[in-house]
Amino acid sequence: MQPEQWQIDLQHCVRTLDQLEQYIPIQNKERMREVLANMRLSITPHTLRLIDFENPNDPILLMSVPQERELTFSPEELVDPIGDEAKSPIPFLTHRYPDRVLIYATFFCSLFCRFCFRRSKTGEANPGPTNTDMDRIINYLHEHPEVEEVILTGGDPLTLLDWQIEDWLSMLRQVPSVRRIRFHTRTLVNLPSRITDGLLTILRRYIDATHPIFIVTHFNHPKEIAPENITAVARLVDMGIVVRNQGPLLKDVNDDPAILEELFKRLVDIRVVPYYLHQLDLAQGTNHFRVPIEEGIAIMRSLQGKVTGIALPRYMLDLPGGKGKIPLTHQFAHRSESSNWDLESPFGESLKYHEPNC
Ligand SMILES: *Cc1c(COP(=O)(O)O)cnc(C)c1O
Repeated sequence: MQPEQWQIDLQHCVRTLDQLEQYIPIQNKERMREVLANMRLSITPHTLRLIDFENPNDPILLMSVPQERELTFSPEELVDPIGDEAKSPIPFLTHRYPDRVLIYATFFCSLFCRFCFRRSKTGEANPGPTNTDMDRIINYLHEHPEVEEVILTGGDPLTLLDWQIEDWLSMLRQVPSVRRIRFHTRTLVNLPSRITDGLLTILRRYIDATHPIFIVTHFNHPKEIAPENITAVARLVDMGIVVRNQGPLLKDVNDDPAILEELFKRLVDIRVVPYYLHQLDLAQGTNHFRVPIEEGIAIMRSLQGKVTGIALPRYMLDLPGGKGKIPLTHQFAHRSESSNWDLESPFGESLKYHEPNC
């Protein structure tokens, strides 16, 4: 069988330093080899076309091209920053919240994001679940009917072949308690050719009026929204799939209210729902991307009231040790005494508010 365009695109990713050198000079190859020993390199042809290699501060370059700074670890940084392992009852599954689980369908990605929080897994050529692992996962779901939602993640589950994706969907749909299936994927951003007719046909087969499929994708900068990406999103949304967006706040990439405003608005315009803006997890070698929480809260505060509510995601912190995600928010309301509140308007006015007895 002929390979499809997305598979050809995967074959043409930049994966070695020699290939990368054709785009950008590499100062210290020895150090760079150490960087790639921690997490591999891959940049898709689509993303290569979007990078301005003349500009060392190009946001997409910063997210995709490895830097020596990845070798600097902060003492607070961890191998397993959000405690995936702490809450993993069986291999390739994390069960942290009662109603939903994560399944790591593969650890492969089309592009290895340089700020990846799961870099200890994605970074190596880690094998994905075997048939035995898959059977165990399905058994686990049968034994845990409180799990209504399965999130296929990784790695990037849409880098699997069509028949592998269909295998997952058909197995999951045989568990009556599983109602919602989510794919967490960056292919819409880095490998839009993946959204083929064949894939759409398969997804369609597993959606009905009470069994939705959701896609959560990961745009971090308005420059990533190119015509091919818009088409990929539109094909999914036209088919009745709700597409949401989550991604981290990244220093020098999107830590600017104007850039985030532009990102969130352009996302709603292409029918993607901004879902979460994450505080960067404490993965090793990512400190050069980290923005202080206080600054993140101030940035999100400045968008409140200015930007349409349907474009505003929640700013979230995933606690180390598998303790779960919490929203980080500016406090607009302080209780002063019994029924009296000190409030702040979205435009910064201070107000007193007296609550009637109720
Ligand atoms: C983040 C996460 C989820 C998904 O959480 P939502 O708030 O529903 O997006 C589910 N399980 C685990 C283990 C997670 O880390």
